[in-house]
Amino acid sequence: MEKTPALILAPLPDFLMQPLHSAHVCHDYFHAQDKAGLLAQVGAEIRSIVMNGGTVTPVALLEQLPKLEIMSVFGVGYDGVPVDWCQAHGIRVTNTPDVLTEDVADTASALVLMTSRRLIAANRFLHAGAWLKGAFPLAHALRGKLAGIVGLGRIGKAIAHRLEAHGMRIAYHGRSKQDVSWEYVGSLTALAQAVDFLVVACPGGADTKHLINAEVLAALGVKGTLINIARGSVVDEAALITALQHGTIRGAGLDVFENEPQVPEALLQCENAVLLPHLGSGTHETRAEMARLVVENLAAHFSGVALLTPVC
Ligand code: NAP
Repeated sequence: MEKTPALILAPLPDFLMQPLHSAHVCHDYFHAQDKAGLLAQVGAEIRSIVMNGGTVTPVALLEQLPKLEIMSVFGVGYDGVPVDWCQAHGIRVTNTPDVLTEDVADTASALVLMTSRRLIAANRFLHAGAWLKGAFPLAHALRGKLAGIVGLGRIGKAIAHRLEAHGMRIAYHGRSKQDVSWEYVGSLTALAQAVDFLVVACPGGADTKHLINAEVLAALGVKGTLINIARGSVVDEAALITALQHGTIRGAGLDVFENEPQVPEALLQCENAVLLPHLGSGTHETRAEMARLVVENLAAHFSGVALLTPVC
């Protein structure tokens, strides 16, 4: 099959770029020094875009690609894609659901354990030789504690099952009640008030921007820990930093941030926060499966067969 021109909007791993190069003429917009020049040169011919879950794609860019047919996202979150605009212009969008669910849920579960048992602080304590001078302070057990999942989707459910295995009770909040045995709480503030861990697993984007705000954090209170593996945009980071600095919540475990990879110095200084560099799906196995979906969705589109994992 003839190679089709593709625009690459994000830094992508070699194991994805290699198969992309085999099937497409790839133009690296992300690394291009002269982005406007690249668009002037190849924009009129581009038929596909490949990006990752964190890439924000402005409509103004898409308007310069008159032959664009499909956007393939290397990630499950597609909050950076103007989906309504794509739908209105007949542009297909794909993502990589399911294959990353277990790894992201493992990461959330690890953040719950790391924050409750203070495992990172304990590790630092031992490396610093402090054990020779005394025991590490006691931490908090998980069994019997209540976890509130915000966004009980594929990942949210996988997190809930893991936390149940730790003896925790589960409640959840979302836009609708689901056919599950866990308690649904229609008010996010009421959920925050009730739980020991508030675990955020909903999509990012305009609809959920700063869903976790100062009011929700106040409701979570001193007995509560915030876990976020969703998107940095869902949490008002400034309000979170204030809550952590003043100890008005117990702690936070975060895999995502508002302005990645920039993490505010004030947050880095918070001893009661465990911070991970957006590694939720970051295993060899899962990223290989995600890459396969990106490549196979593009191949399906250009062969005229059904997409594997369409968003629209
Ligand atoms: P999903 O199956 O679509 O689940 C999303 C859930 O969020 C749904 O249950 C939905 O339920 C709920 N939701 C949507 N809007 C909401 C709102 N305004 N308030 C509360 N809940 C809302 O998606 P998924 O596969 O589980 O992925 C979830 C998100 O995880 C992704 O969008 C992505 O941003 C993030 N993620 C992060 C990483 C990482 O590396 N840290 C990796 C993968 C994914 P209702 O429709 O009933 O509200």
